[in-house]
Amino acid sequence: MSLIDIQKDVDAWVTQFKVEYFKPLEMIAAMAEELGELSREVNNRYGPRTKKSHQDTADISQEISDMIFALVCLANLHNINLDESWKKKMDKQYGRDSNRFERKDEQNGQ
Ligand SMILES: [Mg+2]
Repeated sequence: MSLIDIQKDVDAWVTQFKVEYFKPLEMIAAMAEELGELSREVNNRYGPRTKKSHQDTADISQEISDMIFALVCLANLHNINLDESWKKKMDKQYGRDSNRFERKDEQNGQ
């Protein structure tokens, strides 16, 4: 599934309702809320803060998908083609940031 397919899925879901897309700042708030949910789960699993006995175990994959959904809403509101945007991002990774980290081959002397 390409990013544009995901954008179409989100748009089909969102536009069935009268409210449609939230305003940009409302979307940022929704993203912050989802990031908080993801952060809580990661912190409970890997950080010093243990979960209270009554708290459910959140599914990290679903929390990540919640974040993606919120980000895609923001992209759709701005008519951004995420396939094109992603290509630019990866071009930057392989261009500007190609030597940013030590490569596995260098580490192993290969
Ligand atoms: Mg969530």
